[in-house]
Amino acid sequence: MNALLGDLMSFYARLDEFMRDSDRDCGICGECCQKLYQLRVYPVELENIRRHVADDLAIKKFQNFANSPVVKIWGDISGQCPFQDGALCVIYPLRPYHCRVYGHYDYQGRSLLERCVYRGYAIAYYHREELPLIDELDHLVESYESKNNLPVG
Ligand code: SF4
Ligand code: SF4
Repeated sequence: MNALLGDLMSFYARLDEFMRDSDRDCGICGECCQKLYQLRVYPVELENIRRHVADDLAIKKFQNFANSPVVKIWGDISGQCPFQDGALCVIYPLRPYHCRVYGHYDYQGRSLLERCVYRGYAIAYYHREELPLIDELDHLVESYESKNNLPVG
């Protein structure tokens, strides 16, 4: 399992490198971590975070946050990721795939938040297959699921 999680971290490094062509830097406004309507996190990614974060409650909250079809679970603090502190991500090196591609890739060219600096500069995509290195991610996800007898998908 450790080897698989190591592969995931190597994959993230390659993914970040792949997307470095963008000539714009994130404005670090933090809005995308508060106003996402859905964040998909794969079990292997959650396990990777769990291995590094010794806070079961935060993990549980994050799991609920990520699995919520409409993120609105904290009452007054609706939709905020439990790993966000101010505008920053406290698990930045471990953040999942979809947190990494947000901004660089824009679903149908119109899904980015109004204040996002990438708006109008991102790569528009229409199908999941167009996302960067997605086949490699799928391979890691499937390997984890088969090792843990989880239903694939
Ligand atoms: S994991 Fe980090 S980058 Fe992703 S939504 Fe949470 S705070 Fe934002
Ligand atoms: S909304 Fe855009 S500019 Fe703001 S933190 Fe997210 S990616 Fe960066």
